[in-house]
Amino acid sequence: MSEGLSDTFQRAPAAIPPIEIAFPDLASYAAGNDGTPYVWTFASEYAGPHVLVQALTHGNEVCGAIALDWLLGEKIRPARGTLTLVFANVSAYLRFDRADPFASRCVDEDFNRLWTREVLDGPRRSVELARARELRPIVDRVDHLLDLHSMSEPCLPLAMAGRQRKGVELAKAIGVPQHIVIDSGHAAGQRLRDYAFFDDPANARSALLVECGQHWEAAAPRVARQSLLRFLDHFGMLDRGLADQQLDNVTPPPQHIVEVTSTVTIVSDAFRFTEPVHGLQVIRRAGTLYAMDAGTEIRTPHDDCVLIMPTRKPKPGETAVRLGRFVS
Ligand SMILES: [Zn+2]
Repeated sequence: MSEGLSDTFQRAPAAIPPIEIAFPDLASYAAGNDGTPYVWTFASEYAGPHVLVQALTHGNEVCGAIALDWLLGEKIRPARGTLTLVFANVSAYLRFDRADPFASRCVDEDFNRLWTREVLDGPRRSVELARARELRPIVDRVDHLLDLHSMSEPCLPLAMAGRQRKGVELAKAIGVPQHIVIDSGHAAGQRLRDYAFFDDPANARSALLVECGQHWEAAAPRVARQSLLRFLDHFGMLDRGLADQQLDNVTPPPQHIVEVTSTVTIVSDAFRFTEPVHGLQVIRRAGTLYAMDAGTEIRTPHDDCVLIMPTRKPKPGETAVRLGRFVS
């Protein structure tokens, strides 16, 4: 991005990215096997951790559902411990419309902004809150969470590690994706990955959110599957033969860590980026104008500023972009 950008630049609406992957039919998973719809739990006879792998936290982020559909189809069972597989916001998923593919992110509200006791125990009602309340007792039982997501814009996959050291350690132990983001989430509400004990540095229970790439790009389900398999392998839950057969046998490249320095929350309907932006874009100089909101210039607060997941559809109260810097 050049410096001294014009604040009159108007960004044309971006085209819908191509939909390269098929959406699996989840009807056969609706009953679940443990009393909760679209929740499947398998326990090994050998002791071990309880791992939860979740897909469809956002209804149009299909790569995780493809990975779970594969795992269930292959009848893969944990070599030890307990494995719970959750298709979270199926109500939103079932509304997917190729002509308006971003709309099925949620039904009433963002499922991933509800994860505080105040909100979950509060009086508000929505489709997503009902599902979160239904899933909460399951989440309360697990030791480790892998939450599989994807992004609206093309971007290299990201491990969202939260703000605690244990999140970074988990992302490093899994070894993929190459980019790890240390962040504390969104002003609009708390994510599942930051829920309760997951965000408690004194608690060994841990969570990782993986953004597997653009929602509908062919590579995203492969990233989701490898993340899932490596996650299970890390916790000793993957059968050795299966690991040898299914894990990529190339050593992943060294990981890079981006620490979020600030979150830019949208104030007005007039928010816009002053030039096209993309995830992991680095703006070299502090003070560079990159967005306008309610007539106010928004400039980079420091040199070598990394843009993390700039929003596609600005909405007041939601996150426009996280800013960060590479740390060693
Ligand atoms: Zn998501």
